[in-house]
Amino acid sequence: MWYDKVRDADPELYEYIKSELSRQQDGLEMIPSENFTSIAVMQASGSILTNKYSEGYPGRRYYGGNEFIDKIETLASERAKKLFKVPYANVQPYSGSPANLAVYFAICKPGDTIMGLDLTHGGHLTHGWKTSVTGQAFRSIPYHVKKDGSIDLEEAGKLAREHKPKIIWVGYTAYPREFPFEEFSKIADESGAYLVADISHIAGLVAGGMHKSPVDYVHVVTTTTHKTLRGPRGAMIMVTDKGMEKDPDLGKKIDKTIIPGMQGGPHNHQTAAVAVALLEASKPEFREYAGQVVRNAKALADSLMKNGLTTVTNGTDTHLILIDLTPFGKGLGIFAEEALGAAGITVNKNTIPNEQSSAFYPSGIRLGTPAITTRGMKEPEMEIIGGLFAEAINQVREEHLPENKEELPAYLEKFRRGLKENQKLKEVRARVVEMTRRFPLYREIELSR
Ligand SMILES: *Cc1c(COP(=O)(O)O)cnc(C)c1O
Repeated sequence: MWYDKVRDADPELYEYIKSELSRQQDGLEMIPSENFTSIAVMQASGSILTNKYSEGYPGRRYYGGNEFIDKIETLASERAKKLFKVPYANVQPYSGSPANLAVYFAICKPGDTIMGLDLTHGGHLTHGWKTSVTGQAFRSIPYHVKKDGSIDLEEAGKLAREHKPKIIWVGYTAYPREFPFEEFSKIADESGAYLVADISHIAGLVAGGMHKSPVDYVHVVTTTTHKTLRGPRGAMIMVTDKGMEKDPDLGKKIDKTIIPGMQGGPHNHQTAAVAVALLEASKPEFREYAGQVVRNAKALADSLMKNGLTTVTNGTDTHLILIDLTPFGKGLGIFAEEALGAAGITVNKNTIPNEQSSAFYPSGIRLGTPAITTRGMKEPEMEIIGGLFAEAINQVREEHLPENKEELPAYLEKFRRGLKENQKLKEVRARVVEMTRRFPLYREIELSR
């Protein structure tokens, strides 16, 4: 039986793991930054490698006994270099946010100017948003998307010429179209900036040949390993040939910023799991997977629109879709997220271009196909899921955020009670369960009752 030692040592925790497994198995996981790793990845990350301290880098550690850890870390970084065709890769960052921070401190001093896409337009917190340290330690000049939802390259070029940023970020968390690496390389070269591609969301699509690689256009690439790349939670920083030309010491500077600058001992069990995921991502089956992720997203966007929903930019080039709920009213994201949740479909509320409500009560829904594609779902299922979304969202079309904010808690409480009794949502929930049963997840993992 799986996790039996956890059950013996900590029955309370074991119950929570069991419940979470059922939640993952019986629902449609459609948060675009999530995925289901292979059991091989989980076994590596659950291994004895968690026991070892290895501050430093292969061949130059502060601790003894690292002859095998050195081999594991070298394996991971060599695989990263080969897969993404770069001369340098650091696989030690604990996650995407610290990886991005390390890039800042390798290149910039506090107070330097930086540019990234505004958070409410699809950028990431760590690209200079005001509540992130990156928006406080640096002078952040955000660029935006146009009314049609595409990146405003003209504005970005103008801002770069005017403010001469040290770093420009190209890479997004809520942008459904191809990332404009080539266009930004002209902007960055003209203004002398370092161009950093943050491909956290699309790394698996790049590896699988479904999205243009940034490598010919940018100086540095950062990515998480747990999104479309389908690895464990973790991140990598890569320097391209173009980056090495701009500063031959850039790799060394990044190494030093990670340790001793920001981190202590690397998480060797995660590094090992990253190595497994990178090997998996280099196989023909992964190319097939990446292709299906995008075909599914396109089919799902078509189905959503056929069922009367509006999507930002009328579709997608990637794994990600943004539903714009403003045709039904402002700030409906929270209601739609919770109605879908009650039906067993997990998504997140999100701002849309020209958001008329607020970042906390936005008017959109963000969704994606990486996780359900890993389960084996294809276009026929996408057609059905589009209809299920429309049915669930139809239940909340008449909702509205109360004008007076103080009335909100009571309003939401009443709304939530209504969700529990909603017959239509119960029907959608039953259809979701029926569909998930046809695409079993982690059949190998058997837990006690
Ligand atoms: C997810 C993401 C990150 C942050 O990753 P964490 O592992 O959550 O810290 C950074 N940048 C982008 C574009 C992302 O999508």
